[in-house]
Amino acid sequence: MVNAVMPDEAALLALLNSAPIVDGVPTDELRGAGAAEWLRAHDIPGTPAAAREVRDAIAGVVRGQEPAAGLQRFVAEVRQVPVVGEAGVEWKLEGARFAARVVLAWATVQGRLRPCENVAECTLFLIDRSKANARRWCSMSTCGNRLKARRHQDRLRST
Ligand SMILES: [Zn+2]
Repeated sequence: MVNAVMPDEAALLALLNSAPIVDGVPTDELRGAGAAEWLRAHDIPGTPAAAREVRDAIAGVVRGQEPAAGLQRFVAEVRQVPVVGEAGVEWKLEGARFAARVVLAWATVQGRLRPCENVAECTLFLIDRSKANARRWCSMSTCGNRLKARRHQDRLRST
């Protein structure tokens, strides 16, 4: 059987990481004058409001703040339809709009998609494709080092 689900991990991660903290200030690419252009640049169809809705819903689930069942509404219209051809049966998705596709992508990276552990300063997410699956920071060069430095300072202070 051909897997009809086409994971759109890049769009999922871009979407989840569209509200970063920049120099200590929370920002949101999906608000304000540049939002429509940001969506176009990332090949994401629809309105900024629609993109924010599915982004915030998935982010809430990944952060453990919302039950996954809350994502059902985005995939409620999706159907898998068998198409018989010379090569056998191919499964096609019907009704998979963008929000549904990113929810399906989320489903394929569960257990590997997580928030950056530097939660006090960072709102980014990461998808860990390594065998060990032990990555903790969106970026070692920023959050990883910052957190290690802070923990080192804390240790020095407490001794
Ligand atoms: Zn981070």
